[in-house]
Amino acid sequence: MTQLTHFICRTCGTQFPASEQPPAHCPICEDERQYVGPNGQQWTTLDALQADHHNLIRTVEPGLTGIGTLPTFAIGQRALLVQTPEGNVLWDCISLIDETTITTLKALGGVQAIAISHPHYYSSMVEWAHAFDAEIYLHAADRDGVMRPEASINFWVGETLPLPGGLTLIRCGGHFPGGTVLHWPAGADGRGALLTGDIINVVADRRYVSFMYSFPNLIPLSPAAVRRVVAAVEPFAYDRIYSAWWERVTPTNGKAAVQRSAERYIAAIEREKAPVA
Ligand SMILES: [Zn+2]
Ligand SMILES: [Zn+2]
Repeated sequence: MTQLTHFICRTCGTQFPASEQPPAHCPICEDERQYVGPNGQQWTTLDALQADHHNLIRTVEPGLTGIGTLPTFAIGQRALLVQTPEGNVLWDCISLIDETTITTLKALGGVQAIAISHPHYYSSMVEWAHAFDAEIYLHAADRDGVMRPEASINFWVGETLPLPGGLTLIRCGGHFPGGTVLHWPAGADGRGALLTGDIINVVADRRYVSFMYSFPNLIPLSPAAVRRVVAAVEPFAYDRIYSAWWERVTPTNGKAAVQRSAERYIAAIEREKAPVA
């Protein structure tokens, strides 16, 4: 009797279809937006993660709960549970799901829908969908990023998708063709919040954000791609930005931060084009 396992890539956290042996490759990490570490491809399993990791689950503002794994695993992003009167949405996803996490989130109303910014955070999304009987929403432009296909995955097309509770998925592109952010109008005491993954990434100076084709390999986006990201979120009212890590939050004046950051970014790239005096 052979043992089938859903292996998880240690570098990007993506879970794969069941196999006897670990996969030979991780296409997510072999893509130039990620990397294979110096010791080659490494694999783990959900069981192994459950044995030596746990999730920190913390309210970050009323109606918004962060879920992040300790010690840090793979890319290290934290997911966010948005509570709305019409059902809860899990924004982005992480590799580790365990009984404590399921019990804690069920007490907050569970998860009706899972929406993910881009393939780097697809992680163990199918395990989460099964645990909460939730539907997954991914932009169709990033369909190739799904390593473990499943019936609960809905590929949406176009530029926006309304979700329950007044939430909207907004396709920005940029880092990935289907790069998506989530607009939460009730966030920030009703001033609105954007949940952005690293499609719009709050940087160390939280008055600024950045936009990259590859973060680990430091490959920038073109001015046209940055303008497209900014134009996609422009029609939405928001004051606060939550990007993919606990501390990467612009608490207020987020809309101005996006505008000034895009101007600075584009100016820096255009400067390089200027002839040397
Ligand atoms: Zn990987
Ligand atoms: Zn990414």
